[in-house]
Amino acid sequence: MEEVRVFPLTCAVQNYAWGKVGLDSEVAKLVVGGDPLAVIEGDKPYAELWMGAHPKGDAQIKDNRIPQTTLGQWIAHYPGCLGSKVKDAFQGQLPFLFKVLSVNTALSIQAHPNKELAATLHAQFPEHYPDNNHKPEMAIALTRFQGLCGFRPVEEILGFLQAVPEFHALVGRDAAEELRSSVGDEVRTSQALKKCFSKMMSCEKKVFVDELNELVKRITEEGAAGKDTSSSNGDLLLRLHSQYPGDIGCFSIYFLNYVVLEPGQAMFLGANEPHAYIYGDCIECMACSDNTVRAGLTRKYIDVNTLCEMLNYKPASASSKIFPCVQDPADPCVTLYDPPVPDFTVMKIQVPASVKDYTVASVDSASILLVIEGDATAASAAAFSDVTMRRGSVLFVSANESVSLHVSSPSGMTLFRACSLL
Ligand SMILES: [Zn+2]
Repeated sequence: MEEVRVFPLTCAVQNYAWGKVGLDSEVAKLVVGGDPLAVIEGDKPYAELWMGAHPKGDAQIKDNRIPQTTLGQWIAHYPGCLGSKVKDAFQGQLPFLFKVLSVNTALSIQAHPNKELAATLHAQFPEHYPDNNHKPEMAIALTRFQGLCGFRPVEEILGFLQAVPEFHALVGRDAAEELRSSVGDEVRTSQALKKCFSKMMSCEKKVFVDELNELVKRITEEGAAGKDTSSSNGDLLLRLHSQYPGDIGCFSIYFLNYVVLEPGQAMFLGANEPHAYIYGDCIECMACSDNTVRAGLTRKYIDVNTLCEMLNYKPASASSKIFPCVQDPADPCVTLYDPPVPDFTVMKIQVPASVKDYTVASVDSASILLVIEGDATAASAAAFSDVTMRRGSVLFVSANESVSLHVSSPSGMTLFRACSLL
């Protein structure tokens, strides 16, 4: 028999504390969809589903006729499955990690270094920066998804400096004045913004905790008196403070855009872009790396100097942070989320109700396929036998293999696919 190059996976779940709990979690729903025998505990967080070969969550091969038990082991044995270009460009490793995230409480404000900085940081502080790779990320909303991304337009930051005296106190009069007078001069604005952010981030703990308590007290009182607190971004401030009391990251909402993605909308987090996920479910794809520099809303290590030096201080609107997806010119069912990095591309495949037989086209890259909605029987010349595909099913597809779906659900099918289009 031919070598088996297409097979189903059982993927790793991460029960991080910030995840949505029980069946509120999209991750849990997908797990139980893919395996009706899976037990979901009603009081346990289901934060992430990892679809890939990362050593901390290597997917299990769901076919005991294959001698290797995990995807990582299988790829190590058959690196040709990656496709020749991907295999050469990424040293025989799957270049991406594909995920589903269900976020209940905010994740730390963070940025990821570019390759050059990642190599320097890893050499200097391997305990904080575990590898030398960059970590671009793409998040595609499955449900309404809230996050922080990139520096706000300067006018908005100046507005908060005026409306929120506690924030102004941390930035200081000099830096705030420098930002105000820089308007219209891009280079000076970027320098002034860096100064303002660095001043705030390097405040002594006692100082910012006092200001934060003052701010929370004021907003709470104003809210109780029926006043509109939107000029202080009151609702979001109180929400983050309830999750991370006394954390400097609470003030970052005055610097960073609050971005809301509707289902299907995406944001791409390139190198040095400050961001945080706040609430919702999303598909995520990233380059294989763990390098994260944190800026608050966390109990983990914060490297203020590295963070303040590296960030992209380019003010831009929240709407500009929505990544433009495009229709695949070759296939009307496919929407492409193709970021400006070689490591990964994500495709959303929507098979309409009228189409009963659909072919997932071959690409010159290994790919991972996740069913979000719908049922089908998948057939491939490179599979042992037909595979039943339903909500939560995950399929590994080697390079240059196609998969035929015979759709049985009446309302069509929605899948996401990750691959690397070099
Ligand atoms: Zn990130």
